[in-house]
Amino acid sequence: MAPYASLNVATHVGDAQEAVALNRATVSAAAGAPVSFLTAVHGIGVVEVTSPGEEPGPGDILVTCVPGVALAAIAADCLPILLHDTASGAVAAVHAGREGLRRGAIDAAVAALLDLRGPRARGDFSASIGPGICGRCYEVPAPMREEVAARHPAARAVTRTGSPALDLARAAEVRLGELGFSTVLRHRSCTAEDPRLFSHRRDGVTGRQAGVVVCGVSVPDRPRGRP
Ligand SMILES: [Zn+2]
Repeated sequence: MAPYASLNVATHVGDAQEAVALNRATVSAAAGAPVSFLTAVHGIGVVEVTSPGEEPGPGDILVTCVPGVALAAIAADCLPILLHDTASGAVAAVHAGREGLRRGAIDAAVAALLDLRGPRARGDFSASIGPGICGRCYEVPAPMREEVAARHPAARAVTRTGSPALDLARAAEVRLGELGFSTVLRHRSCTAEDPRLFSHRRDGVTGRQAGVVVCGVSVPDRPRGRP
């Protein structure tokens, strides 16, 4: 029901808990695995999920290398970012907004994937950046823009009217490229402009959408049959 229609997956925004549970079950059915949803605290804490369907504690970065574990980043204007490492098979789901990016959420997520990689040397990172508020819509005070730009110069943007703004997706895309990601897909919809998407900036009381990634296979430390 409005203002949570449709498929809100967040428990903390005032929606009926039964409706959220039903929506989460729908997402899990679509993913083909029970989904672990992150609880955003706008930080850079990493939570490792080790069994399918586990309810993780609060944290903006979920990681796993356990096959069958599905992770969801939830957001409404902030970016849901999904990461994959072919070296270990590990995946991560990241909630990255202004505060998370300023504090280094992307670097923290990649560091967590490298931890799971262990001694495996070779692999490719890929990423998918979900829809967030765009640089033409996300107006912020000039000092706030500079705080984020100190870490992510590519975040510096201006709105349609020329006022200071942040381009979170461009910042994330550039940083992932710098960290050696071979593939970075970027969703082009703006949450504030696309009525099909939840937007906190546009609506205030609203739901949250989710980006979901499922860990498919786990790559052993060393190929079988070799020392
Ligand atoms: Zn926009």
